[in-house]
Amino acid sequence: MRKKIVAGNWKMNLDYAEGISLFSEIVNMVRDEKKGDQTAIICAPYIHLNSLAKLGGDVVKIGAQNCHQSDSGAYTGEISAGMIKSVGCAYIIIGHSERRQYFAESDELLAQKTLKVLENGLTPIFCIGETLEERNNGSYFEVLKAQLEKGLFGLSTADFSKIVIAYEPVWAIGTGLTASSEQAQEVHAFIRKEIAAKYSDTIAEETTILYGGSCNPKNAAELFAQKDIDGGLIGGASLKSRDFVDIVKVFN
Ligand code: PEP
Repeated sequence: MRKKIVAGNWKMNLDYAEGISLFSEIVNMVRDEKKGDQTAIICAPYIHLNSLAKLGGDVVKIGAQNCHQSDSGAYTGEISAGMIKSVGCAYIIIGHSERRQYFAESDELLAQKTLKVLENGLTPIFCIGETLEERNNGSYFEVLKAQLEKGLFGLSTADFSKIVIAYEPVWAIGTGLTASSEQAQEVHAFIRKEIAAKYSDTIAEETTILYGGSCNPKNAAELFAQKDIDGGLIGGASLKSRDFVDIVKVFN
């Protein structure tokens, strides 16, 4: 059985007090209301990670939204995977489209970061996705395949079996436009087919693939009911405790 995950991505939102307050609500609601074995994760800005990991315990896991590709050194303003691990995080988002777009993160750089996350014993949540132009001109399968090949398919089988993938069509992130469940399922099945061709049917069958892009309590159940969708990466809706926990509860 593949692991089911609902991961929130707070992006660059919430000061320290706001983060503690929202997270405390989320932890209490998940503790009281979650019934299944799905994993709830919040990926927060760095300033929150230490406190949230302590508050979340086993109820809500914590992730970062990025890390540097080196262990340490003269990289002013950067944070390493080892540092993130040292405050109790278990996950790091790698290759979010906002990092690819605004910080020019290439597939090659993302491959290095992914390896560093794995070396430190953390789980990368590796994001791929096409732009609206690529969706409309029909090149999206090629684009996604190239992102998988350059970003992930250099990994050994043992390393690849530890990662989580998030399919996030760029045109659906923060826009209110959600991929239909058919569009999302089509891409998830494609990703699984590519994994099977590169690694094996078993690895493909066991890889958790999340959907992200304007996912909310109204559309999550239909999306997560698709055969190859194993949960979601949730932006805007993770900033509201009720909405986020209702999405987590889709797997109850
Ligand atoms: C995201 O940033 O990963 C995301 C999916 O955002 P939103 O849910 O707001 O579209």
